[in-house]
Amino acid sequence: MSRLPLATTAPVAPPAPLLDRFGRVHTDLRVSLTDRCNLRCTYCMPAEGLDWLPRADVLTDDEVVRLVRVATRRLGITSVRLTGGEPLLRRGLPGLVARLAAADPAPELSLTTNGIGLARSAAALAEAGLHRVNVSLDTLRADRFAALTRRDRLADVLDGLRAARDAGLAPVKINTVPVRGVNDDEIAELAAYAVEHGYRPRFIESMPLDAQGAWDRERMVTADEILDRLGERFALVPVGRSGNAPAEEWRIAGTDTVVGVIASVTRPFCGSCDRVRLTADGQLRNCLFATEESDLRALLRGGADDAALEAAWRNTIAGKGPGHAIDSPDFRRPERPMSAIGG
Ligand code: SAM
Ligand code: SF4
Repeated sequence: MSRLPLATTAPVAPPAPLLDRFGRVHTDLRVSLTDRCNLRCTYCMPAEGLDWLPRADVLTDDEVVRLVRVATRRLGITSVRLTGGEPLLRRGLPGLVARLAAADPAPELSLTTNGIGLARSAAALAEAGLHRVNVSLDTLRADRFAALTRRDRLADVLDGLRAARDAGLAPVKINTVPVRGVNDDEIAELAAYAVEHGYRPRFIESMPLDAQGAWDRERMVTADEILDRLGERFALVPVGRSGNAPAEEWRIAGTDTVVGVIASVTRPFCGSCDRVRLTADGQLRNCLFATEESDLRALLRGGADDAALEAAWRNTIAGKGPGHAIDSPDFRRPERPMSAIGG
C-alpha cells in the first residue's frame, strides 16, 4: 500500500506586497461591519443619526470572509481590524470572527468598539479568535458621558472594558478623543484610570470627519496639549512608534502603562501609512480621506474571480495619494463621515 505524502498541498509562495507608488507596503485592513451605531457621539454624528445603508447593500458574512481571504492570501494583509459604525451591532459577530480567524494565512484580528454590549460578548469573541480590542471612552463622568454620546451608558462601557480584560483580549486600549471645553480636563484622569485597571490609554486628535461638518480646529486638542496635560501628572518616558503604527508612545514612569497619542492632524503619519479600508457596503478606500472608492461589492456580486478582486485592489492602492493635506487650502472632506467609512 502506498503511503500518503505528509504534505498534501505545495507551500504557497508569499504574495507580492500591496505597494503604492510611494513605496508604502499595505498590510493592515480595516473592515467596517455596519454604519449603524447605538451612540451619537457629538464629534461623530448628529442626534438623529444618519441615513443608514439599506441592509441589502451591506456585505454579507460570506462576502466579508471572501474579501479578507483574498487580502491575506493574495495581497499580504496581516492584520484586520473590525470596526464601524458599531461593530458589536452586527448580528452573529462571533461566528464571523471565527471564520475570519480560520483564514489561511490567518490575520491578527482586532476590534474597535464603543463597548456597549462587550460585557456580554467579550468571552465569545475571544473564544472565536479575536486577539485585541480598542474601546472608545471619552469621559469617566456619567453626566458628561450622557451629554457627549447622547446616551446614558457609561456603566455598560466600563463593564465592557473589564470583560474584555478578563477575556484576555489584551492589550485592551482605551481610545479618547479630547475636545476643548468638553472633556479635555479629563486627560490625566483617564490615563490614571487606565493605569489602575491595566488598560492602555490612547488620545486621538479630532479630525474633520464628523457627519455634520462641524469640526473646528480651535476645539481640537493637539498632541502637544495632550502631552502637556499628561506631563502635569505623570513623568513620561519616550517609547517611540512601533512599526507603522500611528500612535507615538510614552511609558508612564513607575508603571507598565504605555500611553499613545495619535496626532493625525498636527503630526501626520501619512508617509508610513500601511492601511487600506473596506466600507460596510464593500467599497475599498486607500485612505480615510480618500474622495474616491473602488466598488468591490459590484465585482463580487458580478461573479468576479479572486484574480479580478486582487487586480482591483492593487489598482486602488496604486492610486493612493501622498497624504491627507488637512492643512492645505485645497483640502476636501470625503463625502462619507468617519462612522460610514470605518474608524
Ligand atoms: N463605534 C466604534 C467606536 O466608537 O469605537 C467604532 C467606530 S468609531 C468611528 C472609531 C473611532 O473613531 C472611535 O475611537 C471614535 O472616537 C473615533 N472618531 C469618531 N469621530 C472622530 C473624529 N471626528 N475625529 C477623530 N476620531 C473620531
Ligand atoms: Fe458611534 Fe463610534 Fe461614532 Fe460614537 S464614535 S457615534 S460610538 S460610531
